[in-house]
Amino acid sequence: MRTRSLALLFGALLLAVIAVLLRSASSRPPTEQGPSPAAQRLEPTQGVAELVGDGASTKMCAIAADIPGRLSWRVRVPGKARLETYLSLSRSQIAALEGRGCRAGIEIQEGAGPGRTVVERDLPVDGRWLPFLADLAPWEGKEVEVRLELRCARSAEPLSGAVRWSVPVLSPPRGPAEANLLLITIDTLRADHLSAYGYARPTSPNIDRLARRGLRFENAETVQSATWPALTSLHTSLYPSAHGVVWNGHRMPEGLATLAEALHAQRFSTSAFITNMTRGRHPGFSRLFLSRDGGQAEADLSAVEQALRQLELERDRRFFMWVHLLSPHADYAPPPPHDQAFTRPGASRVRGEIDELADLRRRKVALRAADVDHVVGLYDGEIAFVDALVGQLLAALAEKGLERDTLVILTADHGEDLHEHNAYFFHSPSIYGSSMRIPLILALPGTLGEGTVTDHPASLVDVAPTALGLLGIAPPPPFQGENLLPGRKLPERAVRPLVFGETNGQIFSVRSPEWRFVYNPEKLNPAAPGGPYPIAEAELYDQRADPRELRNRAAERPDLVRAFTGEILAWKSRSLRGGRPAEGPDPEALEEIRALGYLAK
Ligand SMILES: [Zn+2]
Repeated sequence: MRTRSLALLFGALLLAVIAVLLRSASSRPPTEQGPSPAAQRLEPTQGVAELVGDGASTKMCAIAADIPGRLSWRVRVPGKARLETYLSLSRSQIAALEGRGCRAGIEIQEGAGPGRTVVERDLPVDGRWLPFLADLAPWEGKEVEVRLELRCARSAEPLSGAVRWSVPVLSPPRGPAEANLLLITIDTLRADHLSAYGYARPTSPNIDRLARRGLRFENAETVQSATWPALTSLHTSLYPSAHGVVWNGHRMPEGLATLAEALHAQRFSTSAFITNMTRGRHPGFSRLFLSRDGGQAEADLSAVEQALRQLELERDRRFFMWVHLLSPHADYAPPPPHDQAFTRPGASRVRGEIDELADLRRRKVALRAADVDHVVGLYDGEIAFVDALVGQLLAALAEKGLERDTLVILTADHGEDLHEHNAYFFHSPSIYGSSMRIPLILALPGTLGEGTVTDHPASLVDVAPTALGLLGIAPPPPFQGENLLPGRKLPERAVRPLVFGETNGQIFSVRSPEWRFVYNPEKLNPAAPGGPYPIAEAELYDQRADPRELRNRAAERPDLVRAFTGEILAWKSRSLRGGRPAEGPDPEALEEIRALGYLAK
């Protein structure tokens, strides 16, 4: 009997202890996190962070907050860390807050002592993001509570969800052997129109300089000559038919591993400044500047201006910055003085506008050689313009003493047909070298040989695994691309003998240093601006004798046609399985795509 009541008493005690433990766990303030020495982004403990715009062009991963109100986290301060967050006030609340004397700030509290305000500012009077930066060096290695505070001098009804704080980033200083990554992608940039790649015109003095201090891939190719599929492949290291974004406007499925996420997980500050695919999904970036106002040149100029500002903030922490510039995408209308760099006004009546060129093609107007030269001259002028912007980014890197510590990668999403095939000035759905071949230059002083050129084949899907390899980070398992520089150096034999490309998962190409083979098994006649774009069932081009790919040698070399067809079929079954269908085109994105001339008329 006695044993039984003791057991009951013990059981009751045990239940009470469990109940207390459970209660204390559930009553812990929801805005607190346990100490996390590796914390970099302070993720929300309530609600979810969403990408929020400010009514202008900058989107940030942000958390809603009330006025008055507080968000807080308990963290151990890693090294001499800096805290960075931005605040944006909902435009609809600006009037309601007038005269209430509201201020926002960052407060740090250590132990049981009082909180110390390290930054405090008036609320912004428009919707734009206002920066809040705090040096946490005095609390190095200590456990503190970080508080984002919103207080008002005069009390009134609280305003729920009136402001957004960007997810705070706690950045420890960059270690001595930790390189940054600056990825510059240029829309529609043909490799063979860069002086670095042997072009006769001096289109690219700044890119040439980058090539002289790094490694240049002579035979680099995109995976599809369309921006969204190609850039998604760059960031996910998956082929378009594997990631599902097979056409512009399709949104990236959720849950794919990306380069930005891999770097974010390694405590890189991640930001992107992009002028195309601005309606796409870009996971892993804390700060996204979407530059789409004004013309193409204006959008590029403001993307670079914002990127240069961000570079100021990145001085002492490890960063990944992606800049995507739209020039030399059509319209070919370079701003002065680049408009007259390689042609002169009046050289032709053709203006180089996208709709005009499609219309001339639709009406089968044969262009004179002088017209084609003029349009190409304008395209080259666009390259000179964008090269100057690349020069600004590289100069800023050098001025800030970051050149030696930053891996710079310059590449393109695709090239451009310049009237070689089907009287066409554009890229998609071309699968020829004009639109598939792209520049690929990597520079990291002290690691990559200066001025090295290689003919090793390289694909856009290889960029992310190669970058991670150079930064000493293992690639996520789903990546399909190869690290082209195993052991952080150029191997004697090419890592991949062949590169593959596709158009909407229906037409394929394979490229070796000697040959390009184009395979159109369904004999499709794809639609393109200005009319159909015929592609034969099998086309074979000798890269050395015929770099412009004008003479199809498929009939002469059935042996190569057989071998390359086998390679394409093997690659398809190896790489294109398991692809999930992407979400259909986003109506907002369609508007952007139409403006860029993609929808065949
Ligand atoms: Zn593009």
